[in-house]
Amino acid sequence: MSEWKTVIGLEVHAELETASKMFSPCPVVDSVEAEPNSAVDPLSLGMPGTLPVINMQAMEYGIMVGLALNCDIPPINQFARKNYFYPDLPKGYQISQYDRPLAINGFVTIDAENGAKKQIRVRRAHMEEDTGKLSHVMGGSLVDYNRAGVPLLEIVSEPDLFSSEEAARYARKLRSILRYLNVNSGDMSKGILRFEANVSVLHSSDSELRERTEIKNLNSIRNMVKAIDYEVRRQIKLYENGETVKPATLGWDEAAQRITIQRYKERADEYRYFPEPDLPIVEVSRAWVDEIRAGLPALPDQLQQRYVEDLGLSDYDAGVLTAERAVADYFQAMIAAGAEAKSAANWITGDLFRLMNAKEIEREAIATIPVTAAGFAELLALVQDGTINQSTARKRVLPAMWESGKDARTIVDDEGLAQVSDTALIADAVDKVLRANDDMVQRYLDGNDKVVNAIFGRIMGELRGKGDPKVVRQILSEKLTEMRD
Ligand code: ADP
Ligand code: MG
Repeated sequence: MSEWKTVIGLEVHAELETASKMFSPCPVVDSVEAEPNSAVDPLSLGMPGTLPVINMQAMEYGIMVGLALNCDIPPINQFARKNYFYPDLPKGYQISQYDRPLAINGFVTIDAENGAKKQIRVRRAHMEEDTGKLSHVMGGSLVDYNRAGVPLLEIVSEPDLFSSEEAARYARKLRSILRYLNVNSGDMSKGILRFEANVSVLHSSDSELRERTEIKNLNSIRNMVKAIDYEVRRQIKLYENGETVKPATLGWDEAAQRITIQRYKERADEYRYFPEPDLPIVEVSRAWVDEIRAGLPALPDQLQQRYVEDLGLSDYDAGVLTAERAVADYFQAMIAAGAEAKSAANWITGDLFRLMNAKEIEREAIATIPVTAAGFAELLALVQDGTINQSTARKRVLPAMWESGKDARTIVDDEGLAQVSDTALIADAVDKVLRANDDMVQRYLDGNDKVVNAIFGRIMGELRGKGDPKVVRQILSEKLTEMRD
């Protein structure tokens, strides 16, 4: 049985969401909402005689990302012309960077599938301008230049990803970092963030990497995983049939759920790069880098570590809470409102996420749900001080808070959900249930201890779920022990 391993390197294009374009004051607009070609200027259209001016805000965003990806920021940056012809590129060249990129030699830490941390090396990140967008309709092609000239950061990983799942984890981590930095919304459906997967397979007897193919047009991480898995199977099959994998650009056909071959690469692309004569070299002073570094927000890895060390959360829970900045903010707002960290973590990752999933609300939209962090903290306080029990909180109060927008206290009062701790009342309920279920009692007397849980359940039912579970268990156990003796 032969042994094949997957090898993946990701190339990521991230638009940097500045107010204006990379080389002109033309505004950046939403690619879906805006009227096509409503945000264009002579520069975006590649008119002769125009001169680019570097958007320093975009450079700063790029350096922020470079630092967050643990890269070195070289002191000299240079733009270069990448020459090729395509209708979405009216100038006939794209201003990019070649041998003097913005950031080099970094890494992104992911949780590997075996639970260990793994560093994925980032080879480089360079600045460039986005191109226009083509739509092929009714036998013709339309082009929208709103996107032409939007600042774009290309982030290139080493081929350090050894499964589609690892690629997905890397992609999610990168997306999370960009969102923490507030430089990119991470919206793949709008193409604000785009992944290209370079894929090859490696045989256990190989001593060097094999030929790779490149999959483009991946509009979600889910589709990226499917496309990689498909491509890996395709390559293995070719090799096992004695054929070879030819370098090619591939696409993912979502409707047909298959890879399509867009073009074979006969030879390496020849872009005739040369230094952009219309732009100066950019010197990135150490003082500037230090200033940007000092202004970086806490990033997911640091926050995760802090939650483990300072709040005593498990690495897993801390990872789930910090994956989205909005979730971490929500969690911290609960703590600020008095919630205990571990219980807040359990409630968010358990019941709240379940509710959000049921309503198909993305985790990043947690700030928009009807249950506020402060309101949720109040619910936990009611459990903590014994006003209601866990199960009432979970099954009755939290869903009611979500549906009605009312606060926990009001719901508990209005619906009479306060916990029953009155021992006389509970003792009555216990007696009633024991009398009505002598078959269960008999099983208990015959030595079946597990049946106690079922009896407990009936008593809680009798108390309409509101019994204080500790008191109920205590009284039940006393009565049962008496009967056995
Ligand atoms: P090029 O210089 O031709 O663009 P690179 O070596 O720079 O190619 O690689 C581009 C991307 O492809 C990188 O993300 C890299 O990690 C990835 N890559 C390179 N070789 C392989 C391979 N054999 N299998 C999978 N990915 C690869
Ligand atoms: Mg590029």
